[in-house]
Amino acid sequence: MEIVCIGEIFNNDVSGPTYEAIYLGNELKREYGGKLTLIIAGKDLEKYSAKLSIQGVDSIILLDHPSLELYEQVAYTKAIAGEIRAISPQIVIAPYTSQGMDLLPSIAHEIGYTLVTYCQSLKFTGNGWIATRVIYGGKLLEDVEVDDKNIAVTIRPGDFPQLKQETGSTSVLKKSPEIAQGKMRPVGIVKPALEDIDITKYDVLVSVGRGIGSKENLEMADELAKILNGALACSRPIVDMGWLPKTRQVGSSAKTVKPKVYIALGISGATNHINGMKNSNTIISVNKDPYAPIFEISHYGVVADINDLLPLLLEELKK
Ligand SMILES: Cc1cc2nc3c(=O)[nH]c(=O)nc-3n(C[C@H](O)[C@H](O)[C@H](O)COP(=O)(O)OP(=O)(O)OC[C@H]3O[C@@H](n4cnc5c(N)ncnc54)[C@H](O)[C@@H]3O)c2cc1C
Repeated sequence: MEIVCIGEIFNNDVSGPTYEAIYLGNELKREYGGKLTLIIAGKDLEKYSAKLSIQGVDSIILLDHPSLELYEQVAYTKAIAGEIRAISPQIVIAPYTSQGMDLLPSIAHEIGYTLVTYCQSLKFTGNGWIATRVIYGGKLLEDVEVDDKNIAVTIRPGDFPQLKQETGSTSVLKKSPEIAQGKMRPVGIVKPALEDIDITKYDVLVSVGRGIGSKENLEMADELAKILNGALACSRPIVDMGWLPKTRQVGSSAKTVKPKVYIALGISGATNHINGMKNSNTIISVNKDPYAPIFEISHYGVVADINDLLPLLLEELKK
């Protein structure tokens, strides 16, 4: 089976979700055999070659051109689709990022592949595919049969592990593609004025929800995070109330995190929240409601009032 993964460069680095697409590509290669090609478009890409030379990736195609520095649908579609046509893979995989969600439908249309979005699992039947997709913002899963041997799939960041084992031995082909210019032209990335920490980079997150009760109580949670060398994160109501900036929000409309330890304080476990943290290694939840849905995905649960538990916990930890 020929497998193509589309990677991406974000913030002068290979994006995390690129490694998730490579993981899925590897899983399919293990199951069905074949060859895995990674395609990336951008500018000055050679410096990323070592980071992209990942276990299981047979070849890397770097589509390098000054006009591809910032993502633009038409230019990227034409450049990448040309390579895909030449390979004629059974499957093209891209992460569902702000680039991937825009690019892959356009590529699928261009090359005439069936598009399957939000894929969580895939099986090749010989004549087509059976896939499981996430629908209704993660509330339900849907099984679909695809009567097409050639599919293009997007995967949600956080749904698969990141495969980052570098080998340094993958063949790299650098090309300068012809550029097609769309009517929309990217002119620059506007970063939010507020610079904050990146909660996706922390091994420990102490995440507060509405149950934290007051803005003053955030201090206790922050103290806990600092003692554990972690950072403070939150659910959406905390951002809506203006207690923490949006950069700290976890969930489907914010950041997807996978820390070693995620401590949820007074978070009920709404789908939109757990979509952003359910793949954390260890989830510890504190909630006064024993039936709170967060307990269903937690490894450890404490039924307690935060106002009672947090001061005691901090006292013990400080000892
Ligand atoms: C389109 C859309 C996108 C969304 N995106 C996101 C998102 O990205 N991230 C996100 O988080 N939400 C998101 N939401 C909101 C989401 O649906 C929930 O409303 C939200 O996650 C609930 O936050 P919460 O758990 O903090 O609050 P609540 O649901 O109000 O839960 C508070 C919890 O605290 C417990 N509690 C109360 N007091 C105490 C106490 N003293 N001690 C211990 N426990 C206590 C309660 O038992 C309860 O379980 C989105 C919603 C929509 C419609």
